[in-house]
Amino acid sequence: MIKRLELQTTSRIQLVDITAQVKGILRNEEISSGIITVYVPHTTCGVTINENADPSVKDDIIALLGKLVPAGGEYRHAEGNADAHIKASLLGSSVNVIVESGSLILGTWQGIFLAEFDGPRKRSVLIKVLPG
Ligand code: ZN
Repeated sequence: MIKRLELQTTSRIQLVDITAQVKGILRNEEISSGIITVYVPHTTCGVTINENADPSVKDDIIALLGKLVPAGGEYRHAEGNADAHIKASLLGSSVNVIVESGSLILGTWQGIFLAEFDGPRKRSVLIKVLPG
């Protein structure tokens, strides 16, 4: 069964910490070990795991992606959001996390982030739990 998180982003570009919501979904599943896949079915947002203790890490990631792929660059995609598509591909559309004893195995400083690159929008995050 696929679980779905719905969220509303509030800026064109932002990293939204969804760790607590993913843990909440896992708590309602009856599995003690396996893999959880967190996937975003969108072309202009991604998902990534990184530090959620110091918020400046998020700012640095966003700033560097902005330098690598500027919003006003020369792109062929006529919709005007080519940078968002490229940034989404750079981060990827899913992450897998190991589940053990019913808990996500994340490092002390790790969190799961939805990476919005063309907001604000309503976004869906799909979560599949694979017992094993
Ligand atoms: Zn587009």
